[in-house]
Amino acid sequence: MLYYRLYGDFYYNQVSTSHGVFGAHQKRLFGKEGGCPCGEQLEAIEHILLKCKIWGNERDYWPKSWLQKDISDLVFYSPFKKGAIDIFEKLMSSRLTS
Ligand SMILES: [Zn+2]
Repeated sequence: MLYYRLYGDFYYNQVSTSHGVFGAHQKRLFGKEGGCPCGEQLEAIEHILLKCKIWGNERDYWPKSWLQKDISDLVFYSPFKKGAIDIFEKLMSSRLTS
């Protein structure tokens, strides 16, 4: 859906332009708390993409070497971008429907 595609790019831009914090943007956009549902206090993009256990299945097909890298080394790598937007889209859709 276009809506999720736009948001995917929106959040991905946060990754590539700065060390964005997803939860902080959630708070501003939707008035929700900024923590991650897994219990992590700060829902940083790096946490969501590389560490959060909620998205473990989505990460299954990623090369393990990606998880050892710095996110700033991965952002311009298009297979990583595809995987990252996939996670963002699922994250957005799960929150919009809950
Ligand atoms: Zn988490």
